[in-house]
Amino acid sequence: MIAIDNISKWYGPVQVLNGCTTQVTKGEVVVVCGPSGSGKSTLIKTVNALEPIQKGAITVDGIGVQAKGTNLPKLRARVGMVFQHFELFPHLSIIDNLMLGQCKVLGRAKDDAHDRGLKLLGRVGLSAHSHKYPGQLSGGQQQRVAIARALSMNPIVMLFDEPTSALDPEMVGEVLDVMIELAREGMTMMVVTHEMGFARKVANRVVFMDRGEIVEDATKDDFFDKPRSERAQTFLSKIL
Ligand code: ATP
Ligand code: MG
Repeated sequence: MIAIDNISKWYGPVQVLNGCTTQVTKGEVVVVCGPSGSGKSTLIKTVNALEPIQKGAITVDGIGVQAKGTNLPKLRARVGMVFQHFELFPHLSIIDNLMLGQCKVLGRAKDDAHDRGLKLLGRVGLSAHSHKYPGQLSGGQQQRVAIARALSMNPIVMLFDEPTSALDPEMVGEVLDVMIELAREGMTMMVVTHEMGFARKVANRVVFMDRGEIVEDATKDDFFDKPRSERAQTFLSKIL
């Protein structure tokens, strides 16, 4: 589904990704972790071309992300992305947030988009809030709306960048529960997170990054039980 092939990226003179290679197959959940500044956000943003790369290649469902002629809006619609900060449109109601992309990008009729939006709100447990504005919801609720909004585009893969790290602790669980359900339904997911409980529950593989490199790319059990690199061992000893 996602193939990342030997990619490198520089910000000016500073190299931030160095020969990264990994894949995410259909239905797989891959957790990306590593120290701050190791390149996790940058890596995940390259997948939907939010960050360009200077070397290597990425394909999503066979489509070259950097290839000339690739329709980026269309690609991005198929690759759902949820960030640390929810980035809902503050001046639009929850249901309007859910309808906008469906109507503008996918060309769905308003009543169709409305129905789908309401269904998705039900799925994340927020049916009663469709006419509120983002500012009237808690952080955990806003993040669930952000997930529903990404799902409204019928993505073939979902990318998450630390979706729970800006939340008050008591709201982390409700967002993780939505993500766990999504994973169990078979959604292909690439998730940057330090929530190792989530990784243990639903990840198939764990990618560990340090200083712009993928240092470890292992099955969940191998990563937690017998990390090969010293850097991963040190990281795990701090975080677990
Ligand atoms: P964190 O855990 O803190 O979110 P991260 O692993 O997501 O960190 P990145 O945000 O991908 O790390 O950053 C990787 C490196 O790239 C860091 O050294 C960072 O300072 C640098 N960097 C990120 N964005 C930019 C930018 N727009 N311009 C210059 N350097 C950047
Ligand atoms: Mg980051």
